[in-house]
Amino acid sequence: MAIRSRQSWLWERVARCAQHSPGVQVGLWGGLAYGAIDTFIFRGKAPWTLAHHDDHTQLGDKLAYPKIAYPKPDGKLTFDRLSSVFLSATNHEENQQCHLRLKDESVPISINYARYGAPETRYCPAGVYEILGEEEGQPRLQINGQNCLHCKTCDIKDPTQNIVWTVPEGGGGPNYPNM
Ligand code: SF4
Repeated sequence: MAIRSRQSWLWERVARCAQHSPGVQVGLWGGLAYGAIDTFIFRGKAPWTLAHHDDHTQLGDKLAYPKIAYPKPDGKLTFDRLSSVFLSATNHEENQQCHLRLKDESVPISINYARYGAPETRYCPAGVYEILGEEEGQPRLQINGQNCLHCKTCDIKDPTQNIVWTVPEGGGGPNYPNM
């Protein structure tokens, strides 16, 4: 499969713009200019490689940023996450082991919650991660693995790399029956 991908026209196109994303580190206009030079002059074969950063290393301390007040979904153009999960007809057998594992169960509160404001509750598109017990002063992470859309964002983005996405039972996951 990998060899056939490399031989396809798609591979050539993707390779031609593989450096665009790291190029934007110098700013939007600089990144666009770099992308144009890389695409049209070097055709994706520039004799250097710009450095990438692992995504999970780029998250900042919550105290360094203002809290974002996201607008409420209007039910016409924007929808709440669970309505969208419903449309995907995501399902996992209830009696299977949760496929989202934590290497250390204390880390979601001691580090993710305390330092980063529980980012998993925001980046997960399916609302799988919830912090409960905040009002009682005893926050804890709840994982609603049943709703997982298999995007693997948590596996990549978790700042402590504490979340491990394992393969669920066959047939589980999103179905998108209307597509
Ligand atoms: S894989 Fe995606 S949908 Fe599933 S829990 Fe992780 S972030 Fe959420």
